[in-house]
Amino acid sequence: MNPWFAKIGILLGYCVLVAIRATYRFRRRNVYVVESRMGRLEVALLALASIGFVVPLLWVVSSAFEVANYTLRLVPFMVGVFFLALGLLFFARSHAALGTNWSATLKVNEGHELVTQGIYRHIRHPMYLAFLVYSLGQAFVVPNWVAGPSCGIAMAVLVSLRISAEERLLLEYFGNDYEVYMTRTKRLIPGIW
Ligand code: SAH
Repeated sequence: MNPWFAKIGILLGYCVLVAIRATYRFRRRNVYVVESRMGRLEVALLALASIGFVVPLLWVVSSAFEVANYTLRLVPFMVGVFFLALGLLFFARSHAALGTNWSATLKVNEGHELVTQGIYRHIRHPMYLAFLVYSLGQAFVVPNWVAGPSCGIAMAVLVSLRISAEERLLLEYFGNDYEVYMTRTKRLIPGIW
């Protein structure tokens, strides 16, 4: 297959991702933050995630990483498109459920409410799952050994290092309510983990 199918798929995916995020970023523009855990680790994780997302874009618009290209095939491409779409669906549903309680880093806002409904009824971190599923899609769609897995590696590191800190923050803030929520939900995979 012509690699331009992959390039167009990646660009479309990014457009949808950015449009969803921009909508909710705009909605929370006047929200006052009461607690922010923006330590060095958070800064490093955000930088890593940004690199993970920028590398496939560089692959799309330039000949960077050309040496690591391989032939694009129909079946992996279709599998990848499926995971990209599923990731975007989870992403939209997580944002819709979190509303103004969302933040890009570890924060608690004024009037922050614990969300346990919608997609949060099934797992505690559906937005991180969305990024992981989306990244898996990229790994299949992008026929390049560097740009394909870059996002997945960055997101796997971010999610594995951030989840515990985020749960500690929410436990501190919501106490027993979050504890109860934890006992009846898993982190990323319903019924498993
Ligand atoms: N980890 C979640 C949310 C990511 S956004 C997910 O993957 O879906 C990160 C912010 O969401 C954190 O700063 C935290 O304050 C907030 N948050 C996480 N879970 C929440 C919940 N169940 N209810 C309300 N806010 C939550």
